[in-house]
Amino acid sequence: RFLPNLPVIQALPDTLISQIAAGEVVERPASVVKELLENALDAGATQIQIKLDGGGISRIALTDNGCGIAEEQLPLAVARHATSKIKTLEDLEAVASLGFRGEALAAIASVSQFTLTSRPASASHAGQITNLAGAWQIQPAAGAVGTTIQVQELYYNTPARRKFLKSEQTEYGHCRDVVERLALAHPQVSFMLMHNGKVTAHFNQAAATGSAAEPNAHEQIRAQRIRHVVGDELMPHMLPVAVQAHDLALTGYVVHPTAARARADLQFFYVNGRFVRDKVLTHAVRAAYQDVLHGDRQAAYVLHLSLDPRGVDVNVHPAKTEVRFRDSRSIHQFVFHALQQALGATKPQAPETNGV
Ligand code: ADP
Ligand code: MG
Repeated sequence: RFLPNLPVIQALPDTLISQIAAGEVVERPASVVKELLENALDAGATQIQIKLDGGGISRIALTDNGCGIAEEQLPLAVARHATSKIKTLEDLEAVASLGFRGEALAAIASVSQFTLTSRPASASHAGQITNLAGAWQIQPAAGAVGTTIQVQELYYNTPARRKFLKSEQTEYGHCRDVVERLALAHPQVSFMLMHNGKVTAHFNQAAATGSAAEPNAHEQIRAQRIRHVVGDELMPHMLPVAVQAHDLALTGYVVHPTAARARADLQFFYVNGRFVRDKVLTHAVRAAYQDVLHGDRQAAYVLHLSLDPRGVDVNVHPAKTEVRFRDSRSIHQFVFHALQQALGATKPQAPETNGV
């Protein structure tokens, strides 16, 4: 029988490990935008600017006014498995930040030309870290308080992956979706998106009526952003949802069944501020609509579920859009009943149409 030469087991070089991990974290430019936006939000930013060129393939530059990174910490920010967000297993089980795996920047930097410039409020100038020919270089730089990350020529060094990217316009569309998704969930933050030098989306706080100091200002901005995403036509048909039970709360909007759409393109579910795709939640929505939705019509919704972070595991996949609920049965029931209640209010309209 044939035996191969005795195999030699070797530890992989660091960059290759990151490039392998990048396969899961960085699927396309939109995944870079998502990771960078999540970092900016975790850093407490209130103003975020995203500049894309060529669908994000040639350039993604994201600037935030968050807390920044101390210059001596820059090498750690881009190192694998280094994070400021958790320290222990207990922290992981109750994680409230969007990030926690400490691998996004390392993964992104391993497949792009990457520059991070950052300045905390306490520093007199910014620090900059760049990957040049596989080595990191740090130097002082000019820069406002906050962080700017520039990612150029995504996958330039992994051409096989680069081939999987779609057209500029398609990649841009995915990036825009990511910005919309996060803007819907973070009314306290302004988002400006530019593509090829033009402003293509602006989710501004100032655009809302009333000042941000008003108690329901966030609610107004939230509603305005939902209008921006679902459109002026559909917005009057969106029913508010606000249900709370114990430590569970469901808020947001769901479409009136008679205005349901042919396409399932306006479905946004967030768990503790994180956009997720989850079977339990999708099923609960579908079940609640079952009796009131006609045939092939699709629900439209923007829903926020909040619960004790200990009740949900977000560490299921590196992209973190999947979650596992500790008690998925009671989550399902809660969402189902909350929506049934919101939609139940629509039933008295039926007699009007059939003349009973
Ligand atoms: P994670 O977000 O999982 O911690 P990342 O690789 O995305 O891992 O980021 C590594 C670390 O770099 C973060 O924990 C954070 O301390 C710091 N960091 C990244 N982006 C920013 C930013 N925009 N502002 C401030 N700190 C940042
Ligand atoms: Mg992160």
